Amino acid sequence: MNKAKLMKIRDTVSKMSLSEKVRIVSGADFWNTESIARLKIPSIAMADGPHGLRKEQKKGGGNLLDSYPSTCFPTASLLACSFDRDLIKSVAAAIATEATSRDISLVLGPGINIKRSPLCGRNFEYYSEDPYLSGELGAAFVEGIQANGVGACVKHFALNNQETKRFVSNSCVDRRAMEEIYLEAFRKVVEQSSPAAVMTSYNMVNNEYVGESRFLLTQKLRDEWGFEGITISDWGAVNNRVAALEAGLDIEMPGKTSDTTADILSAIRSRKLSINSLNEAVTRIIYTIDEVVRDKKIVSMIDYEVHHLLARRAAASSIVLIKNDDALLPFNDEQPFTVVGYYAKHHRYQGTGSSRVNPTKVTSFLDELDEVGVEYIFEEGYNSDGTTNDLMINNARKAIETTGRAIIVCALPDTYECEGFDRVNMRFPDGMLKLIDQLVDCSDNIVVVLMSGAPVELPFEPRVKGILCCYLGGQAIGSALADIITGRVTPGGKLPESWPKRLSDVPCYSYYNSDRRNAEYREGIYVGYRFYDTIGISPLFCFGHGLSYTQFKYDELKLDRTTISEWSRIGLSFKIENTGDVKGSETVQLYIARKGQNYKELKEFHKVFLLPHENRYIEFTLSPRDFTYFNTNTSRQELESGTYQILIGSSSRDIRLTAEVVVDSRRNQQKPTYIDHEQAISLPDEKFYEMLGFEPVEPMWRPLTQNSTVFELSHTITGRLIVASLKNAYFSSLPKNIDDATRLMFEESLEDMPLRALCALSSGMLSKNTVIALVHFANHHFIRGLYRLLKGRR
Ligand code: BGC
Repeated sequence: MNKAKLMKIRDTVSKMSLSEKVRIVSGADFWNTESIARLKIPSIAMADGPHGLRKEQKKGGGNLLDSYPSTCFPTASLLACSFDRDLIKSVAAAIATEATSRDISLVLGPGINIKRSPLCGRNFEYYSEDPYLSGELGAAFVEGIQANGVGACVKHFALNNQETKRFVSNSCVDRRAMEEIYLEAFRKVVEQSSPAAVMTSYNMVNNEYVGESRFLLTQKLRDEWGFEGITISDWGAVNNRVAALEAGLDIEMPGKTSDTTADILSAIRSRKLSINSLNEAVTRIIYTIDEVVRDKKIVSMIDYEVHHLLARRAAASSIVLIKNDDALLPFNDEQPFTVVGYYAKHHRYQGTGSSRVNPTKVTSFLDELDEVGVEYIFEEGYNSDGTTNDLMINNARKAIETTGRAIIVCALPDTYECEGFDRVNMRFPDGMLKLIDQLVDCSDNIVVVLMSGAPVELPFEPRVKGILCCYLGGQAIGSALADIITGRVTPGGKLPESWPKRLSDVPCYSYYNSDRRNAEYREGIYVGYRFYDTIGISPLFCFGHGLSYTQFKYDELKLDRTTISEWSRIGLSFKIENTGDVKGSETVQLYIARKGQNYKELKEFHKVFLLPHENRYIEFTLSPRDFTYFNTNTSRQELESGTYQILIGSSSRDIRLTAEVVVDSRRNQQKPTYIDHEQAISLPDEKFYEMLGFEPVEPMWRPLTQNSTVFELSHTITGRLIVASLKNAYFSSLPKNIDDATRLMFEESLEDMPLRALCALSSGMLSKNTVIALVHFANHHFIRGLYRLLKGRR
């Protein structure tokens, strides 16, 4: 922080009245911060989100589906496949200019939570199962946004890896896994790119709401990582405003309810909250607003066509060619082919929820084929919900028999994955599977195109020659797909997560998504490829995998030294050559493993573009930090002496070059025991509790409290009636044209919502006293309930 400016702001804070200070620590409404005209403190506006701007048209906000048109870039799920920091910066820069043109000063993104399970309904908004990759790409996104005069808000801090019970779930995780896997990406983003804001997640971590965790919000974020921006609560996430302020949560969103204002005032007056905590929050808010406003750029006109082209380029360089036996693709020989699938025409290109963008336009694969004059026969094959019938199947069969080859597009329908709930399995709809099953024997030359926000089981994989993965690719995905299929662009995407063969292979399979509030992270650090590699389970497609229409040769690995201690670094270089006949890109990946162990970690990557037969030398520098682990005895990252392997390759399982390095730690330390790889499959209770340092206890449903959910309330006699009328009021307030996925999201979110959040999210329609009254009624304390209701009226 700039000292002179800080002094000036402290001076301003000293001139503020208590009520002004209390006002500024929560939003003015759904999207804006408070202004204090007397002191010339302006308000700034925020908007989602991670792959395009969602600025609501209604003043003050509150209508998810009514936003201004903006470019829908590929979602994080696809963008991450680019492994391309520069590309992500360009996309973020474009989002920032669109934000500026709509007077938005803070973009609520990127989302950098770790993909712990493919079932998480919001995985499409996140980058990877790997913290290094998530951190690097997240930092690139923040840099792209902030270099263009807009602040970025990194979310959702922290350990928000599921949607099930997201408002109240309690992530129970051991300290080493927390540090090495779940906090690491946030550390990286904060240290590398200084985001203006960090959004705190809804959930608890080890029995404490994130928003009330001094450990997370002050000790880690500010004291250790040097974060200088503001912390903002996720919408409706605040449990106890006073405790949150004390812990370091600066702004409560959305707009204030008079109740939390009253809570803060009374806590200050009774000295339960130190005025210093409030002053610090206010100082940080004014400082950040000032920075954001100072950096603001004027953009009057946006060339949305240019942004559409960027969305197309981003999608094309991210699409992953997962399988291409006998070099079936590209289809560039002017022979016709069959295209099957409802979603080949109406793509699934983004997810539902707060990140959903109203696109400026959407180009379809078929339109693009028409545009470039490619001949094809189209058959729908299945309906939008994935159901099919004999006629559809027969028509598709006939078409494939005519052309001899086919592209079948499979997508997870919107209602299968969405913010607000998790998937229940990893399957495509039965109709789609039945269709593919009946089509694969019509021809040897079938390519399946996948459109989903996360991995899906692919039982047909051995029977098709080609697979392309588009994740959710943004408004230009249709054109980008045509670019890849016709060979105008050589695919270069890599999978940023493992694709397991079956759901039961996923490390947290047995305890993810349970009907309990405690989310047990028993697999510890064994997440994604760290698990599959260590346990010896082969995923269907591994982390970092992705093919090309050309080939690359790796050679000449040289290290400038082979030992490393706390004070040294290792420089290394190697040669990469495009040995094929078309230009293409390769993402070279560097992993480090202890010699003799299968557990490895990504530590570097670089995307290189090469013309046919061109070569380039790649250089990396490894620091001691790349060899450390988190020692829970000393509470810091430590080097462990021994021999390590440097593994350089084209994927986590296609290692082309190796070298050995000796780590010589000068610090005398004792390494604590950790979960060994066999225990990672099913960690016994005692060991898990020992790792956690406590035994998670599931809260009782009765008596009800303000933290009981609407679902729990509906399981009491009086509660059932209350919930019925609540739902009635809630659903009749939703727009009539609402789509199925959004409706489902609202339904599921309401069920999981703690009663206290109803105040914050009902824009003041339900007061805290009303909610307390509801709780009393449901607990059969009618007199107390009536008293509260009357109190609320006054
Ligand atoms: C989401 C956030 C989003 C916010 C505002 C919340 O429900 O979790 O990611 O930024 O709403 O739309």
